[in-house]
Amino acid sequence: MGDPYITKPKVYLLGRQVVVDQELERFLADEGLTFTTDTAVAAEILNEIAGRTCYLSFGKGRKSNREYLENILASKHGSVLEHAVWNLLITGVSRALTHELVRHRAGFGYSQLSQRYVDESEARYVVPPLYQQNAELRARWQQTIECVRRAYAELAEATSAYVQERYPELPPRERRKWARQAARSILPNACETKIFVTGNSRAWRHFLELRGSPHADTEIRLLAVEIGRILKRESPNLFQDVEIIDEPDGMPSVRVTHSKV
Ligand SMILES: Cc1cc2nc3c(=O)[nH]c(=O)nc-3n(C[C@H](O)[C@H](O)[C@H](O)COP(=O)(O)OP(=O)(O)OC[C@H]3O[C@@H](n4cnc5c(N)ncnc54)[C@H](O)[C@@H]3O)c2cc1C
Repeated sequence: MGDPYITKPKVYLLGRQVVVDQELERFLADEGLTFTTDTAVAAEILNEIAGRTCYLSFGKGRKSNREYLENILASKHGSVLEHAVWNLLITGVSRALTHELVRHRAGFGYSQLSQRYVDESEARYVVPPLYQQNAELRARWQQTIECVRRAYAELAEATSAYVQERYPELPPRERRKWARQAARSILPNACETKIFVTGNSRAWRHFLELRGSPHADTEIRLLAVEIGRILKRESPNLFQDVEIIDEPDGMPSVRVTHSKV
């Protein structure tokens, strides 16, 4: 095991969309329409096509994709934004953070590391940002974590022995699951987890607004800042009003001009 203490999340952008050009051409030919756009970003093209389908405005009206999507955001035509999707794999975050993350229901899908199946004896722990600033508090926090780490390993082993004796008919995999599901009850919120998150741009925007705010918990706020940077790079037009700013508290936050589209 490397350093068991984590101070920063990692975000892996694993998936983005593509446009199937032949099918777009087929649709335009079938309907006798023309359509050109000035963006090469698939998510932005798909959103523009979705919006233009509503009014059959292909080849008409606003010229640039940025201008087109600005109008979608300003007029709160939010359902159009649900057609752009990104898949992120997030590691180095605490169970406290993911408990807050999974409260975001609309437009998200989640797959998270299971503490019933995975042995957490060698788990890593996320140091809360406040304790990263203060050596004395961090040392006290770390001592507590080390106590829990030992307690979990000992309890898991004792529980496993008990389950084997009490339920000898269970297959070994089930026995391990039963022992871990009981022993995990003493694991702290700081325990590291990994979560695969798929979200559409409407959902990501709402998440960035709520969790990138200075009112949010610091760990999830810094994650939102990181995700905001990634999504802005991915799609400068869909996230054109999302800004990362430095706050008087010394940390960055996310500001979204078009609130809750
Ligand atoms: C600073 C902060 C502090 C918080 N503190 C607490 C706390 O102390 N305790 C706590 O329990 N939670 C707390 N929360 C969580 C919060 O209440 C929300 O559960 C979380 O932010 C997800 O937001 P959401 O429901 O808007 O998101 P989503 O579930 O993604 O929903 C998006 C939007 O869809 C609509 N929607 C979704 N589901 C429904 C529905 N069933 N009915 C009607 N409309 C719906 C709403 O307009 C909603 O805003 C806190 C959140 C923040 C940002």
